[in-house]
Amino acid sequence: MTALFLDRDGVINQRIVDGYVTRPDDFLFIDGVLEAMAIFARHFDRIFVVTNQQGIGKGLMTEADLQAVHSYMLQQVQDAGGRIDRIYHCPTLKSEHSFMRKPSIGMALRARRDYSDVVLHRSVMVGDMESDMLFGRRARMQTVLVDDQTNLARRNPHLVDLSFPNLISYAQYLEKVTSE
Ligand SMILES: [Mg+2]
Repeated sequence: MTALFLDRDGVINQRIVDGYVTRPDDFLFIDGVLEAMAIFARHFDRIFVVTNQQGIGKGLMTEADLQAVHSYMLQQVQDAGGRIDRIYHCPTLKSEHSFMRKPSIGMALRARRDYSDVVLHRSVMVGDMESDMLFGRRARMQTVLVDDQTNLARRNPHLVDLSFPNLISYAQYLEKVTSE
């Protein structure tokens, strides 16, 4: 089965530079994302969010804060006709070098364990950072960069299979190539 793995900050919602989304009011969907999620729901058997959230490890937010943010996100996605099967997050600090933290692939292996029909080499990882591309590459997924800020794809062509300015552009590309 084909799964879509989505990074969260900078892909689904606007990233807070040097900060964390600690409450639903700070969670701002990037333009077109809700529309994109409805398209993905038709194209992928499973849809997962994989997100590093070391703001928890730093004590800047709690697991309950994160759950409140994710409840809001899930509700909005669902209301727009989209679907997220499961959200995986890693609360630990970067310095702890957890296998669950991207770019290590613990969250991908967890998803495959939880959903035995998921075939990673037929799946796609979408993210906005090099760590997302590494995560996807190491898990043998197709990698899709959504990023209009840096030249990450140009600097790391071996890590990036496809590149789009944002999530809706990727969703529209999927619609186009599958209708041809
Ligand atoms: Mg990100």
